[in-house]
Amino acid sequence: MSVSNLQNDKLDEIKDAINNWGNKGFFRKQNVGNEIQIEDVQSLECFSVKIKTQYEQRTIRSASEPYRGGSISKYHPPNRWQIDVDLPTSFQNLKNSFAVPNSDSVDDCSSCSGRGKTDCSRCHGSGKINCYSCNGTGGVPAQDYHGNQGMVPCGACRGGKRDCSTCYGKKQVTCSACAGCGQLKFYQILDVRFHLKEQLHWINPSDIKSKKLNKVSGEILVNEHRSLIKGFSGVSTEVTDAVKELMVESQHTNHDEERVLFQNLIIERIGIQKITITSSGNSRNDLWIFGNEKEVQFVGSQPLNKLRVSVVLLISLTAILAIIILSTSPNRASNSTGQNTSQNQQKNSNSKVKQSLPKVAVIKTQAADMFSKLPNSNNSTNIKLMELKLGERLELLSPKYFGKGWYHVKHPQTGQEGWINGNQIDVE
Ligand SMILES: [Zn+2]
Ligand SMILES: [Zn+2]
Ligand SMILES: [Zn+2]
Repeated sequence: MSVSNLQNDKLDEIKDAINNWGNKGFFRKQNVGNEIQIEDVQSLECFSVKIKTQYEQRTIRSASEPYRGGSISKYHPPNRWQIDVDLPTSFQNLKNSFAVPNSDSVDDCSSCSGRGKTDCSRCHGSGKINCYSCNGTGGVPAQDYHGNQGMVPCGACRGGKRDCSTCYGKKQVTCSACAGCGQLKFYQILDVRFHLKEQLHWINPSDIKSKKLNKVSGEILVNEHRSLIKGFSGVSTEVTDAVKELMVESQHTNHDEERVLFQNLIIERIGIQKITITSSGNSRNDLWIFGNEKEVQFVGSQPLNKLRVSVVLLISLTAILAIIILSTSPNRASNSTGQNTSQNQQKNSNSKVKQSLPKVAVIKTQAADMFSKLPNSNNSTNIKLMELKLGERLELLSPKYFGKGWYHVKHPQTGQEGWINGNQIDVE
């Protein structure tokens, strides 16, 4: 529709919607609606079709139990759909099982041929099993007074066999299928399952995503709740055809065991406007305004708040730069101490470099001595504190003593501090 045919209040509504859009996002350009020129407005319609269907499924299965007497029906069981079941009145998922009336019959148990007993499976019907004490041999090893080895009869059995502990020597056990009754009662169980299905279809002439359309409201054209929805009126042929297709799909069931109980059909119309605008730089842009909520979606790029975008970019860059500088600085500190040669200087900078020092010395020779002082210093009171074994770990207190190859270490178990030669350790 040409803009000249639109009333001013309609144009104001559009500008308001665009302003609202801009004020809802931090990076969006504020009050953009006031700065644009509306060139063209097209009105379109979008429809959502929702069908909810409640199904009932009835399946029959066989069951049996030991027959302990009692009357058996002389009548035929009813058809599964003739059985009285409480039906739901609202949409739900539910399962229930019932014994089918008049479906019982009695027959001999096939596991025991009607005897109520079966051969014991442990002793295979012999009533005897091998004795544990003599392993079924009937004899156990023994020594006489002279220490000679021989065999004596087993005291726990006779001839290596004992009564079976499952059947107590009776050779047979109670049949587990019929619990000893010899007969089984057979009957049918009806499983009833109520379940629902929801179908959603969009007739959408725009490129607005269904997910976004789902969040806005429109005008409800049809809201039918019936047992089986066949026809309805008040919508275009295109919508009617789509609904019919969904209906056929929803009402397709396996008729022997499933049926539709009721359905709900909702057809909603959502108004859409396609707006063409020009903004300050004479650039053209298309956008959609849709739903009662007047949601806005730009087709091309969105108008951004350039100042806010630049500020956030700048902050992010500064933060990244700061992280890079911080993560590289400790290395530089340790490099600088590596050039120091005086022991005093090293002591002064010790506190600064502690963070980046290797912390552990592992003994790599079969044995290594730890001394109380630097061994080749002129001090004659240097003593050997302890001998360490291969693989033992020590805490490193300071880096290598330059030029001499000795490390200041601490023994973690005793707490003793001393010096150890660099050739005897690996530093981790
Ligand atoms: Zn025995
Ligand atoms: Zn047995
Ligand atoms: Zn049986």
